[in-house]
Amino acid sequence: MAILVLARQQASQSNSPSKVQTSTPSLRSYVAMDAHLRFCWAACDVPGFKRLLPSLWREMKFFNNIYELVGLPVVTVQLRYNGWVTELQDLERSRQLRQALGLDNLLYTPDADFPCFADLALTSPEDYYREGQGSLLQCVLTPGDPYMPLPNDEIIRRVAKEVLALFPSSQGLEVIWSSVVKIGQSLHREGPGKDPFRPDQKTPVKNLFLAGSYTKQDYIDSMEGATLSGRKTSAYICNAGEELVALRKQLAAFESQEQMEAPTTDDELSVV
Ligand SMILES: Cc1cc2nc3c(=O)[nH]c(=O)nc-3n(C[C@H](O)[C@H](O)[C@H](O)COP(=O)(O)OP(=O)(O)OC[C@H]3O[C@@H](n4cnc5c(N)ncnc54)[C@H](O)[C@@H]3O)c2cc1C
Repeated sequence: MAILVLARQQASQSNSPSKVQTSTPSLRSYVAMDAHLRFCWAACDVPGFKRLLPSLWREMKFFNNIYELVGLPVVTVQLRYNGWVTELQDLERSRQLRQALGLDNLLYTPDADFPCFADLALTSPEDYYREGQGSLLQCVLTPGDPYMPLPNDEIIRRVAKEVLALFPSSQGLEVIWSSVVKIGQSLHREGPGKDPFRPDQKTPVKNLFLAGSYTKQDYIDSMEGATLSGRKTSAYICNAGEELVALRKQLAAFESQEQMEAPTTDDELSVV
């Protein structure tokens, strides 16, 4: 997904010590920080949001907690075969290439280093079925740590071996094409004691909202989790309307009272 930002000034400008001076920011400091982010909804992954965070915001437990979360290495391996690996009913037909056969679903296993996989030639034939070719297995190695330093050939060898252990009937089928994609930091690493560090979508900065599957929601880090987080975020934003208007008025009062430096750039909408 993307990040949608409606900002008056860069969040990083709130790093200015004149705006955030104490470890327990006063109401005025909060208002000043809020003013810098006129309205922001950040739908990043964990490493991406850490890059956006002004370092001084780590003084707030809410934001500092996010540094307890780390992105997990994930390795995606695709293997194209000269037959149908997941066809379990008819061995002979699993060797023909006129018709796609096998398990047309997302598959899960506890018995391989890739807990989640699918034959894309069956599940997404429009994009991945090729005439004269067989299964295109996509195997997602999570956690991918042990595989990160390995050369691609070795990764492919190990994954093909695990595929054969899961589907002994595919003995004799050959891998005719393969691909390996390594992502150093991807999904947040779930682990004992980590859940309390996942942030709520509503932050202590009143007009900054978070979304993304790493934020607190009922599902694991998944597309469903990302969707649920987005729904929670939009509910918070809808509910915050009056509060945001009040915040603006409060700021205007501060500005006129103490002639705080006014933001210079116009509101702008950017979709990254
Ligand atoms: C290989 C793989 C296979 C998967 N398979 C499944 C599956 O089968 N089913 C399932 O449910 N889930 C699956 N997942 C998990 C699922 O993809 C994620 O949980 C989901 O995409 C998270 O959505 P998100 O919107 O929170 O984050 P993302 O989809 O990661 O989107 C975050 C976006 O923010 C951008 N970004 C980050 N930092 C910044 C920044 N500082 N500025 C601007 N933009 C930034 C990133 O480029 C990215 O586009 C898989 C994940 C991987 C890696």
